[in-house]
Amino acid sequence: MTVSQWGIKVPKSKGESFRRYLLANGDWCPNLKPISNGEYLVFPTVSESITLPDELADCDCDIKKYEFESRAAVREPARHELIGGIAIMQDDDVSEAEYLLKSRPSIHTVLHCESPVFGEYRIKKFRVLAGKETTRTSYIEYNNRFTIDLAVAYFSARLANERQRVLRLMKDGERVLDMVTGVGPFPIALSKKASVIYAGDINPGAVELLCENLRINRTDNVIPMLADALDLSGVLPPHSFDRIIMNLPMTSTAFLETAFSLAKKGGVIHYYTLQSEKGEMLPLLRGFTAGKIDERVVRSYSPTQHHAVYDIVCE
Ligand code: SAM
Repeated sequence: MTVSQWGIKVPKSKGESFRRYLLANGDWCPNLKPISNGEYLVFPTVSESITLPDELADCDCDIKKYEFESRAAVREPARHELIGGIAIMQDDDVSEAEYLLKSRPSIHTVLHCESPVFGEYRIKKFRVLAGKETTRTSYIEYNNRFTIDLAVAYFSARLANERQRVLRLMKDGERVLDMVTGVGPFPIALSKKASVIYAGDINPGAVELLCENLRINRTDNVIPMLADALDLSGVLPPHSFDRIIMNLPMTSTAFLETAFSLAKKGGVIHYYTLQSEKGEMLPLLRGFTAGKIDERVVRSYSPTQHHAVYDIVCE
């Protein structure tokens, strides 16, 4: 029997290390057979949003739907989102959760998401359906390892490529500020080029996980701060940052004035927001700077809104 599933084409020489990488990230579809195609192998993946390891960053690794042969006539587990060893199911179904746990060896816990994102800390409520009683797991993104706790602090793997885009824009030695850092995915990704990164969050649980992640990744140029982004201009030197990250899409508009007071002339602010129309925030941003402003869609958020980023040059 063949099954139509997302697949990724990688050179055969990288096949074994990529297979292990997919397995470790829980992105592998164990019940489908990889396809051998000349110089390439096509691996079946659980979704289309796969973060490539550095060694494949320059390869022409196509992700699209392929027809894979089934290893056995096993039924597909229920729909779920994977983060590290945790699967999150929308359905509150214990027997499906048990089946999912058995069919994916990399999963240690299946959670049911019981609320939308809420509160200042932007977290959700979860209930354990199967496996280990925890909301904590380990997640690898572009060779960086993160300890996350979904019930304690916000984390989304969906911005993995966006973090790499910002890293590519950076010059060596930049001074960076992440005003709403969560468990630290931006600072840890950007630390490779920065001289120093100040990383703040109002959630003590997030800052604790940030410190743990700095330790795990042996990152020694990030200064964690338990701080309200609104207060930063009273604490940090004015006009002293080459780059400022503001990823709190619902409310970061409130921090714009602070961000502009902290950015150097010629520095860049990456301002993330939710919007319904292209260019929606431009009139507001033009009130702060006459510098160049580039706008990009990061991902779609709902049928009417998308997550956008404005790269703003401060003047
Ligand atoms: N930048 C991180 C990322 O990309 O994963 C986290 C983004 S999350 C959407 C927003 C974060 O802002 C949360 O961790 C929340 O605790 C934090 N936050 C909310 N209000 C804040 C404030 N006034 N000052 C500092 N951090 C705040």
